[in-house]
Amino acid sequence: MILQVALDTPLRRVFDYRPPTSLGSHGVPPLGVRVRVPFGRQQLIGVLVGVASESAVAPPKLKAALEILDEHSIVDPVTFDLLRWASEYYHHPIGEVFAAALPVSLRTGQPALQKTEWWCLSDAGRRELSAPGARRAPQQRALLAWLGTRGCATGDDIGEEFKPAQLRSLATRGWIVEAAAPAAAAMEMRPSEVALTLPQAACVAAIIASLSTFAAHLLYGVTGSGKTEVYLRVIAAAIGEGGQALVLVPEIALTPQLVDRFRRRFSSGVVALHSGLSTAERRDAWRAAHQAQARIIIGTRSAVFTSLPKLALIVVDEEHDPSYKQHEGFRYSARDLAVMRARGANVPIVLGSATPSLETLENAATARYSKHLLPQRPGASQAPRMSIVDLRKHAADQGLSTPAMQAIDRHWVAPCAHCDARMTLHRRAQQLRCHHCGAHSPVPAICGSCGQALNPVGQGTERVEETLARLFPDAPLARLDRDTASARGAVQTVLDRVHSGEARILVGTQMLTKGHHFPEVSLVVIVDADQGLFASDFRATERLAQTITQVAGRAGRGSLAGEVMIQTEFPEHPLLNRLMAEGYEGFAVSALEERREAGWPPYSRLAMLRAEAKDSLGLDAFLRAAVNSSRRLNEAAVKVLGPASALIARRADHFRAHLLIETAARSTLQRFLKDWLPQVEKLRGPPGLRWSIDVDPLEVD
Ligand code: ADP
Ligand code: ZN
Repeated sequence: MILQVALDTPLRRVFDYRPPTSLGSHGVPPLGVRVRVPFGRQQLIGVLVGVASESAVAPPKLKAALEILDEHSIVDPVTFDLLRWASEYYHHPIGEVFAAALPVSLRTGQPALQKTEWWCLSDAGRRELSAPGARRAPQQRALLAWLGTRGCATGDDIGEEFKPAQLRSLATRGWIVEAAAPAAAAMEMRPSEVALTLPQAACVAAIIASLSTFAAHLLYGVTGSGKTEVYLRVIAAAIGEGGQALVLVPEIALTPQLVDRFRRRFSSGVVALHSGLSTAERRDAWRAAHQAQARIIIGTRSAVFTSLPKLALIVVDEEHDPSYKQHEGFRYSARDLAVMRARGANVPIVLGSATPSLETLENAATARYSKHLLPQRPGASQAPRMSIVDLRKHAADQGLSTPAMQAIDRHWVAPCAHCDARMTLHRRAQQLRCHHCGAHSPVPAICGSCGQALNPVGQGTERVEETLARLFPDAPLARLDRDTASARGAVQTVLDRVHSGEARILVGTQMLTKGHHFPEVSLVVIVDADQGLFASDFRATERLAQTITQVAGRAGRGSLAGEVMIQTEFPEHPLLNRLMAEGYEGFAVSALEERREAGWPPYSRLAMLRAEAKDSLGLDAFLRAAVNSSRRLNEAAVKVLGPASALIARRADHFRAHLLIETAARSTLQRFLKDWLPQVEKLRGPPGLRWSIDVDPLEVD
């Protein structure tokens, strides 16, 4: 018997081992258990992904595994298959795929299951605790008192505070007794306070009717139209019989209200998985999910891999959000994998958005997904008034872009010495910083080329903030962007200032469009729409339309009527006008037509081979050799375009370029990559070359 083990290495293969001697005649271990193996001079922990009768490695060279760590697979069978499928589909090494999916605790060999003994205070222990009398052993008394306030505790919890000897001596005296785990508190569902509207009820009924089968439902409704209420209802129905629900959100730090709402509706069993958890917290959350004690798992991207043996329903909120795509390493789309997972588990999936991605709208148009529209609730404030500000006619004050400002901006550029990017001015820190490589330098007082004194310009949030502060000295300001949000708790502080009404003007980046509810905001100004209209990436207009629609949906939701102003130098742009006249849905129809004509997804399938190296000629030669090797495969239905320079052609002193692979069908693309990538792997590149493949890339420049 040969064990095929996935190890966390960049090699696209599995590793063969003989079973550990300790296995004896125990038979074949189940797939999905962890295996400790010798690897060079170290030991690694991998996952058993196959068992074969023979190996290509010669028998004397074949090493024996050291230990099998688990009795059962550490992930449910659907997730196990999903991970193997994802490794093939994204052409990413299977060991790295498992490593990306599993919490650190499992990768380092901690038990997958929580084997808990519980200890409870006995009647004798209770008597001892209340007896006034001699106090010989303060340590034991302390443990007794500690347990007295709890009644029962797990051996693990006791072990964190006390020594094993103390526990043993209390047990010997009969003051504490071992007990079976107390039954997990039954999940209590509180009834909703609202009666569903007719469209909500229809949608809930349709989703509930599809429980226990695979079905994809697009829930299409503006912010505040009642999507979350629909999620809560269908989840209650789906998990009633002991099932589990997985809820994916773009960013938990930005949507604390959502988690609160779930916790209020479902008393216990709601677990949030996010980057703010400690290793131990993450381990406990994972175990609770794997043992089906956690019933609703709310998490970001990587939560799609959580082991959920009783999965009954998946919800992907804000399904259009680009943060569902991992942008480095294992470049998966959590939204797409969630659909695959629902299919594998034979459960329904709900994709919610006020601005669905064009891919999802196309899937709805071709009836692969069912589409449910939630109109704005009656009584909700009116749709905001939208207008376009022609920047060629209207000069705006400093910071809020004017043609003059832009001219100055074009003339004063502080390039990063390591990248083809401009530095961003950070006024508070009196620094120029490059957001691509992190380089920073002090702000020069005079121009390096002409010697004139420098005036800072640009339309960064900090600059706009300054102008506004000068024009409206009495209005307290809050700012939310990548820089202000980086400190822990900073986002919450800003949001609290806005919600309390203390801050009257809020300046920010697209971050502001993610899930926030600002009912008192009455005016939204989009300072610069043109970046979205004329970016080289074919998805840029979709992103812009989503941003405009999302911020507009947040304006004037309280007692105030909303107004949205969009600053652009191209007020006649057709897509922008369609968006203004007919909303996101009308825009989407036009945008999909454009995509079809241009042969972009969803009417074609793409992959990108990205590469970087310090030697630009060597980089180019490598990519050209890759193109040549693709020609030899004679795949007429596959176009390999490039090499082209990346948008930022140099980052941290590395040149960056890519090839774009384009086909009509997924299966052709998959077959091609399977044949081609091993050829690319054999090519000799320049020193330090790094390359990666991105299947279904979200950004193509
Ligand atoms: P979304 O998720 O689309 O933003 P929510 O479900 O959060 O919408 O609903 C917005 C607000 O409207 C919430 O305060 C919610 O409690 C309330 N709400 C939702 N459905 C109803 C309903 N049928 N009747 C009354 N209020 C509702
Ligand atoms: Zn840089």
